[in-house]
Amino acid sequence: MTFTISDPRLIVRANDVFVAEETLKVGHNGYFDARLIRRAGGVFDIEVFMKLQFFFVDAKDWIIEIMQWEFEDDDERIWAQAERHDYMRKWHKLIRSTWNRMHVGRIGHSPDMKLGTFVHPEELGQTRPVNVNFNFFIQEAGWMQDHFEIEVFKAPDGIVSGFGSVERRRDLLDQVLYDADVEIDSNSLAPRSEKQAEMIREKSGVPAEAGYTTAAHEFGHMIGLDEDYANPIYSHDPCSVMHHGPDVYPRHYRLLLSWADAKLKRSG
Ligand SMILES: [Zn+2]
Repeated sequence: MTFTISDPRLIVRANDVFVAEETLKVGHNGYFDARLIRRAGGVFDIEVFMKLQFFFVDAKDWIIEIMQWEFEDDDERIWAQAERHDYMRKWHKLIRSTWNRMHVGRIGHSPDMKLGTFVHPEELGQTRPVNVNFNFFIQEAGWMQDHFEIEVFKAPDGIVSGFGSVERRRDLLDQVLYDADVEIDSNSLAPRSEKQAEMIREKSGVPAEAGYTTAAHEFGHMIGLDEDYANPIYSHDPCSVMHHGPDVYPRHYRLLLSWADAKLKRSG
């Protein structure tokens, strides 16, 4: 058995990194802080740090009317403190278990070739695997220099998650456009059952897949990804997390990888 002493080397540290595809290219603040690290053995780690502020919204009459929600009793319309803490803890767990991934792709570069220099064959076109690791600083309400504000609306317990959206709160001129960056409801962490998926398919024609969670899908937007269902290249695959399914693919890390690759090339 061999042991390697871990020798992480920080290549770059960046605050308020801005990565976004077409429809999410708004907002003056970045999406996250990040570090690119080279580990012993040449493997790269992208460590993402996101500062989040959660706001819990009780079910008011206007939203009950729009969503046609039915509550058992008035207590169910209100977020209890224990429920709020539970939601944040479970959100954190769900996102890390869904999105933290080893070997999502490879980055790297070939050394510049100077005439007459010997380059070891292994150095030629060398790329190395990349792991991605998401970390969160989470705070409820109050004040914070955050990357995203997340509003969680109280919905009746146990129903299918009703909505989710990510819109940058401020535009490039620093004007406030929305109340929050992210809007989800209290059922957004529950994976869709096969029965629920079938019901949605029949009722609305949306190609819903079992195992999908709204929170994991919206998180994809929080790392700059557009809808897969709106993209002709990916729209054939409803199992994708950015479509109506549960699956995270290596291509979903493309924005992070191109950020890291650009940093690596610049660092020489
Ligand atoms: Zn979406």
